[in-house]
Amino acid sequence: MALTTIPGMSIIEPALGAAPSFGVSATLAANEILAARHRRGEPVLHMAFGEAGLDVHPLLRDALADAAGRNGYGPVAGLPALREAAAGYWTRRDLPTTPDQVVTGPGSKALLFGLIAAIGGDVVLPRPSWVSYAAQASLAGVQARLVPGAAGVPEAARVANVAAAARAAGRPVRAVIVTVPDNPTGLLAQASAIRALCAVAEQHNLVIISDEIYRDLIFDAAPPYTSPSAFSAERTVVTSGVSKNLALGGWRLGVVRLPEGPLGAELRDRLLAIASEIWSAPAAPVQEAAALAFREPAALVAHVAASRRLHARVARAVAARFAAHGAVVPTPQAAFYVYPGFGPVADVLRHKHGITADTDLAGLLLRRYGVGVLPGSAFGEESWRLRLRVACSMLYGSTSERRSAALASDDPCALPWIAESLDRLDEVLAEVVSLRITGPGGARDA
Ligand code: PLP
Repeated sequence: MALTTIPGMSIIEPALGAAPSFGVSATLAANEILAARHRRGEPVLHMAFGEAGLDVHPLLRDALADAAGRNGYGPVAGLPALREAAAGYWTRRDLPTTPDQVVTGPGSKALLFGLIAAIGGDVVLPRPSWVSYAAQASLAGVQARLVPGAAGVPEAARVANVAAAARAAGRPVRAVIVTVPDNPTGLLAQASAIRALCAVAEQHNLVIISDEIYRDLIFDAAPPYTSPSAFSAERTVVTSGVSKNLALGGWRLGVVRLPEGPLGAELRDRLLAIASEIWSAPAAPVQEAAALAFREPAALVAHVAASRRLHARVARAVAARFAAHGAVVPTPQAAFYVYPGFGPVADVLRHKHGITADTDLAGLLLRRYGVGVLPGSAFGEESWRLRLRVACSMLYGSTSERRSAALASDDPCALPWIAESLDRLDEVLAEVVSLRITGPGGARDA
């Protein structure tokens, strides 16, 4: 602990107050281990990070360069051209939106934090759910209540119970977050689950935050898309951005659609107050380029369609590798994630490696084999379920040429560098779950 002596005071006290309830993400630690292995020339499979793994489209690159001279802060809610374009994006998706309903920010992550703080009460999250929601709730000084669910939507009946108990205890829940489609599971919620949750939200007066950042990356065979705004328009806040569909995570640009009516107006005022004291506005040149993105010219629509196809093919191939080695794996429906569970081979993992928790499994894959994945427990999942969140998008290639070839290919998994990664994954999984023990005396049966 850092100690500071304050001049004129005889007391020695720590320089810092209480630490946040969470640390720097496990992905950073994994990154360092993978980088060290890479430097030593050892095989590495980067599957821990939620980067879209593709390059910036030239149209967007040019739009950003052309706007480099924009150096004013601009309005807190975002440039009118961007808000208008984002309103058009939602309107084209059957969600009529006016520019006044749109607030922009430096990534939807920052906006989500702003929303949680603006709502100012406890929040229900699906278990499992994206790592940052619970951490943000804690930063905002509210409690996150994890409720089991499927595909990014907490189970309605359980949410009703939690909300009723919280109200009776004098500390009502104010909001529920859904992720449609979902990270970590890569699944798209059924309309019936969303409809049931909306009914509970109405009953208990909950704001619904619908994180729809992966909406444009839904694979062909997935069920039809349903947003909670279809059922509960007046209490649903939708967040989105350009990080995933257009691989612009580092540009830090996100958008919120606030509902029409008094709740939306009040939330807008509160969110803008928070934004004005933290980020002022997203970077102006990025806003200009993002306005082009949300206008969706044909070339960008085709680019997103190609990336969706690539994500689908590689995610399915990765899922098949895990399934072939005994894991239970839901067929990926969106984004670029696979969510295998090693429950069916739990006995082998315990017997052979002494593994009973997902963190140990992720640790083994990382340290012994250079395979970076995240344990399900990082997403609030119970550790004994032995689930892993596997991101496939870093397999597309380490150079621009390779990533472009992957994007253009009808059979990306046959490209040598992707095939090599899939083979390596096969080899590692075979070794991890095989009942044969390899040691100094050679292989023998366990
Ligand atoms: N929501 C989910 C579910 C995500 O997975 C991510 C990024 O990983 C974000 C939000 C944040 O996206 P942004 O880059 O817009 O901050």
